Amino acid sequence: MSTETQTATWNDRFGASLMRSLTPPKIMLERGEGCRVWDVDGNEYLDFLAGIAVNSLGHAHPALVEAITDQAAKLVHVSNYFATPPQLELAERLKRISGAGDAGRVYFGNSGAEANEAAFKLARLNRGADGRKTKVIALQQAFHGRTMGALALTGKPALQEDFLPMIAGVEHVETSIEALERSIDDTVAAVILEPIKGEAGVVDLPEGFLQAARRLTEEHGALLILDEIQTGIGRTGAWFAFQNTGVTPDAITVAKGIAGGFPIGALVTFGWASDLFSAGQHGSTFGGNPLGTRVANAVLAEIERAGLVEGAVTKGARIRDGITALASPLVEEVRGSGLLVGVGLAEPVAAAVSAEALRRGLIINAPNESSLRIAPPLIVSDAEIDTFLSILGQSMAAVAGAEQETSA
Ligand SMILES: *Cc1c(COP(=O)(O)O)cnc(C)c1O
Repeated sequence: MSTETQTATWNDRFGASLMRSLTPPKIMLERGEGCRVWDVDGNEYLDFLAGIAVNSLGHAHPALVEAITDQAAKLVHVSNYFATPPQLELAERLKRISGAGDAGRVYFGNSGAEANEAAFKLARLNRGADGRKTKVIALQQAFHGRTMGALALTGKPALQEDFLPMIAGVEHVETSIEALERSIDDTVAAVILEPIKGEAGVVDLPEGFLQAARRLTEEHGALLILDEIQTGIGRTGAWFAFQNTGVTPDAITVAKGIAGGFPIGALVTFGWASDLFSAGQHGSTFGGNPLGTRVANAVLAEIERAGLVEGAVTKGARIRDGITALASPLVEEVRGSGLLVGVGLAEPVAAAVSAEALRRGLIINAPNESSLRIAPPLIVSDAEIDTFLSILGQSMAAVAGAEQETSA
């Protein structure tokens, strides 16, 4: 079959059978290894998106393959009527790496959105002595997921518009200390925010913002909940991004990179927030199943063994310095931390740059028209980073050249 026929075939099949809620993809992938993936026509791509910060160990990592196959042959699912060894091990491991310690507790779900749903319910349980705490504060442009609770927390009106009315009680504030000070009072049950706004284009919080959020939530008896779904699991050069800030939250939500692509999410509580849920108030059939938790344990153990958290700092610096050294007129700023990198473009050409990169065998992402998102597997090598930089440079030069031709 020729490439063209094969391409037309899967495109048509996708268009005919997948829900229209999804934007049709450009290529169909068949297999991967390390930081590389191959499409159905045998073309090779360097993967600098990692399934949106999910494939922590890249593709087909032996530790992940071993955990999946071994556990699949033992026990895949038992329901929450029963405990399993991998579930207990993962809960204890998450308490340790997050610093939640003995007073911490863990709830398991199957995705980021589900972790945030649990966090939203946690916020509702923080009623206060007089029951007045019903408000949740989130940030404008924040992304917390697509299910109705998580969508209500998401600060993008365009995503909510078709699904109104939203769940009541959420207020979205501007990302400034002053705006937060103005909005917070004793009716606030929780403030939820991303330490770096990933879907917004890898946008850092303003200096001192997280510290101010901690002070204000403490003053008003509100929970500080950090959505570490994209920033967590070593990606920013610490197990969790908050660990670089000196701030301790009351809860974090985790998903994406935790099991290297196996779907699992978690809510981890710290201190008094651990006492809010009581038996029967929340649950999920698949949540905390032995397969997902076993895979997460294997991924986290491998990240630890291979020093990938520390590695994210040096590799991230190589990427950042390399992008700056390209001296492209398109690059306005480089954002983010560790291996979660955002490139702010001077022109709204992010989609064109990422399409040029794809043509040259590099997968990156354009979360909006003027931002590129770069999030390779944590196992990425220096040589792969150098290849990435060279293709990114060519892609930006091609787009900048085309821009100049149009304006000439
Ligand atoms: C991806 C993401 C979510 C949603 O996770 P899903 O697994 O897609 O439901 C929530 N919050 C943040 C910060 C994310 O990056």
